[in-house]
Amino acid sequence: MLNSNLTKKELFLLSMGTFVSSAFFALLFLIDLSVYLKLISAFVLIFLLWGWGFWIFRRKEKKCDLLIKEQDTKSKRFLELTELATQICQASLFPKKGAGLSPKIVHFFKEFLDSDKFLLFAKKGNIYQMITASDVPLFERRKLFFKSNSEFVSVLKSTEGVCDLGFVESVKVPLTFKTLQKGHGFNLVIPLRTDLDLWGFVLLKSDKKLAPAEQGIANIIFNQLALNLQKEDLWVRLTDMEKKLTTNLSRFRSDLSILNKDSKRKIFDLHAVLGMVNNLYSILEEERLFLLFSKMMQDHLGAKSVLIMLPEEKTGDIVAKYSFGAQLGNLADLKIEKGKGLYGWIKNTKELWSLYDMRKLSEEEEVLKKLLGQGLQIGAKLSFTQDRFGLVLLGEKSDGSKYRQIDLGILAILISMVVITYKNIKHYKTIEELSYTDSMTGLYNYRYFYKRLTEEVFRAKRFSRKLALVIFDIDDFKVYNDTYGHQAGDCVLKQLGELLSLTVRSIDVVSRYGGEEFCVIMPESDQDECFKFMERLRKAIMNYSFKDENLKHEHNITVSLGGAIYPHDARTVDRIIYSADMALLKAKSLGRNKSVMYGEEVVAVKEET
Ligand code: GH3
Ligand code: MG
Ligand code: MG
Repeated sequence: MLNSNLTKKELFLLSMGTFVSSAFFALLFLIDLSVYLKLISAFVLIFLLWGWGFWIFRRKEKKCDLLIKEQDTKSKRFLELTELATQICQASLFPKKGAGLSPKIVHFFKEFLDSDKFLLFAKKGNIYQMITASDVPLFERRKLFFKSNSEFVSVLKSTEGVCDLGFVESVKVPLTFKTLQKGHGFNLVIPLRTDLDLWGFVLLKSDKKLAPAEQGIANIIFNQLALNLQKEDLWVRLTDMEKKLTTNLSRFRSDLSILNKDSKRKIFDLHAVLGMVNNLYSILEEERLFLLFSKMMQDHLGAKSVLIMLPEEKTGDIVAKYSFGAQLGNLADLKIEKGKGLYGWIKNTKELWSLYDMRKLSEEEEVLKKLLGQGLQIGAKLSFTQDRFGLVLLGEKSDGSKYRQIDLGILAILISMVVITYKNIKHYKTIEELSYTDSMTGLYNYRYFYKRLTEEVFRAKRFSRKLALVIFDIDDFKVYNDTYGHQAGDCVLKQLGELLSLTVRSIDVVSRYGGEEFCVIMPESDQDECFKFMERLRKAIMNYSFKDENLKHEHNITVSLGGAIYPHDARTVDRIIYSADMALLKAKSLGRNKSVMYGEEVVAVKEET
C-alpha cells in the first residue's frame, strides 16, 4: 500500500540504489581484494543501502502523517460545516425580535468565509432591504435598498454560490452602495435563492477560496439561509395578515355592535317618532299640541327647556307663547318683530339651526341675547305660510351632551308634523267657529248655545254657583214680515244681533235659538240680576229704531222674555231651557212685551230631576 503511494522519483531512486549496490557487490567479487577487505566493504555498502532506504521511508512516513493531519482538519471542518448547516436549518435567522442575526450564521461567515464584515439583504415586498450588518457603521446602512426589478437583482437571480462583486461595474447601483462597497472593500456576493425566488443576498469581504467539498456544504447553507428568509417573509406576511385580520375583526365587531346598537336605537327612535307623530296628528287644541310636543322634546331628546314662539294673529310678529322647563325665565314679553333683522334672518335660513349661528348675525340684538342667556341652543322654524313663522327653541340637553344627528332628524320630522297639526287646528277652529255661528246675525247658533249651556251648568254645579238663562221671542214677527216684507224682517234680525252684542256683559253668551227666538246664558246670575237684565233688554229693543233694507224707514219691535235660574228653577240643561221657555210662554200669554221669571206662581211646572 505504501509502494503504491511512492512517487516516480522515489521509485527511480530506489531502483537506482538497488542497481548501484548490486553492481558494487559484483565488483567486490570480481576485484582482487583480501577477504577481510571485501567483507568490510560489503558491510559498509549494506549499511549505506539500509540508511538510504530508511531515510526514504522516514520521509515518506512524515509526508503521510502530514497528509493524515490535513485530512483530519478537512474532515473536522467538513463536519463542523455539516453541523452548522443542520443548526442553521433548525434555528431561526433572528432568534429574538430585534436581537440581530443568529450567532451561528455570524460564526459561519467569520469562520468559514473568513469575513468580518458582511451585509445581509432580505426581500421585503418589492425591495431588498438591508436587515443586518456586521462591523459596518450604522449611518452608512441607512436608506440602502435595491428594487426587485433592478439590474443588480436580476443579475443575482441568475447566479449561484459565492460570486465576485466585480459585475457592479457594469450594472446600475445606488451611489451609496458604491461608496459603501469601496469603503469596506466588499468583493463577494452570495445570492440567497430558492427555485421560487431570490430571497436575499449577502455582501462580504473575503479572499478565502472554499474547498470543493466546503463549497457544496456552503451552497447548502446559502440555500438554507434563503429558505429561512422565505420563511421569515412568509411569517412576516402571515403575521401582518393576522394583525390586519384581527384589527379588521375587532373593528368589524365594534362596527357591528355600533351598527347593531345604532340600528336598534334607530328602530326604537323611528318607532317612538311614529307614535309621537300619531299622537300629535290627532290633537285639535293648540295648547295641548305644544304641551305634548314640548314633553316629547324633553323626554325623547332630553331638552332641558323648550320655548315656543308663535305668530301674532294680526301683526305676524313672533311672540313667546309657551315655555316648558325649569330654566326658562320670564320670556312673556319676548317678541321678534316682523320685517326686522332677526325676522328676516329666520325667514331666509334653513329649518333647523344652532343659536350660535344666529349670534354671528348680531350680538346686539336684544331678543337674541335673551334667548342665548336662557341657554337655548337649537332653533327650528315653524313655517306656517311663506311669511308667517313660529319658532321652537330647545335648551341644552339635560345630560350635558350635544344634540345628535338623529335627534335633529327627529326634531325635523316632528316640526313638520307640528306645522301640519297647527294649521289643522287653525282650520278646525275656523270651521268650528263657522259651525257655531249664525250667519245672519253673527251670533252663536243653537248648537253652540246648547254646548255652552252644558259646560256652564257643569261649571256652576262644580263651583256651586247660580246661572241664569233668558229666552226671548219677537212679538208678532209674522205680522212684521207680512207688513214690511221678509227682507225687512231679516234686517231686523241682523240689527237685533248687533244690539244684543252691545247690551250683554262680556261673560254672557248670546245665541240665536232659532227663527226669531234668542237666548242669553248669564253665568253667576240670580233671579234679581236676570230679571233686571230682561227688563233692560226689553226696553232697549222696544226703544230701538230698526231700519228697513233700504235704510229709509224705521220701525219698532217688542220682545217677550222668559228667565230661569239654575239650580233654583231647574238642575239639568233641558229642564232649564224648558223652564225659560215656559216663562216666555207666560210672558206671551200675559200680553207680550213682558219679562217673566220662571216660578211656581208663574207657570205650574213640576220639575223632574
Ligand atoms: P208671537 O211670537 O208674538 O206669538 O207671534 P209671531 O208672529 O212671532 O209668531 P211665531 O213666533 O209663531 O212666528 C214666527 C215668525 O217669524 C214666522 C216667520 O215668518 C218669522 N221668521 C222666522 N225666522 C225668520 C227669518 O229668518 N227671517 C224672517 N224675515 N222672518 C222669520
Ligand atoms: Mg214671535
Ligand atoms: Mg217664535
